[in-house]
Amino acid sequence: MQYPVMEHFYTLQGEGAYTGHAAYFIRLAGCDVACHWCDVKQSWDKNIHPNINTNDLIIEAMRHEARIAVVTGGEPLMHDCAPLTHALHEKGFKSHIETSGAYPLSGSWDWVCFSPKKFKAPLFEFYQLANELKIIVYNTSDFAFAEEQRQKINNKDMVLYLQPEWGARHKVMPMIVDYVKANPIWKVSLQTHKYLDIP
Ligand code: SF4
Repeated sequence: MQYPVMEHFYTLQGEGAYTGHAAYFIRLAGCDVACHWCDVKQSWDKNIHPNINTNDLIIEAMRHEARIAVVTGGEPLMHDCAPLTHALHEKGFKSHIETSGAYPLSGSWDWVCFSPKKFKAPLFEFYQLANELKIIVYNTSDFAFAEEQRQKINNKDMVLYLQPEWGARHKVMPMIVDYVKANPIWKVSLQTHKYLDIP
């Protein structure tokens, strides 16, 4: 099986529940969600990125110590991720995914970070199966969107995060702090890798 891959690299997970964990990142190309503030727009067109064999990705990942692989995008679930997660598990990796939930889940995942977007409706299944709900806050209307999403959750163990959109962080961060203080069911997620310039 081959996947269009924008980049793959060893780093620290910078955001969400696994912040600070070393992990191998695999950024699959292709996305039609079209968030206007997207910081990886070069991932949208899968045709401009090379197709890489699953085995080659795993061999690269195994050169490093950590046994967490984070599959992100783009929107990784535009592809059938079953062969990829099967291969990762065979080599002892925990499989993590970051998805908008706009496409059906494929593959077997140890951690699902669900980050729904206003621009393409997510599928209902993610409100039940995700481990982590991460709402990107770009402006004040995103707090209402966050609550709409939370109301749909059918998994009491799901961790709830509000994360400032990087370009809007100076404007929205004070609002997020006030919101979390008033609504402590939410936690703040920061893109620590960007603050610390961790590639
Ligand atoms: Fe960018 Fe992710 Fe939105 Fe796709 S879902 S447009 S990759 S932020």
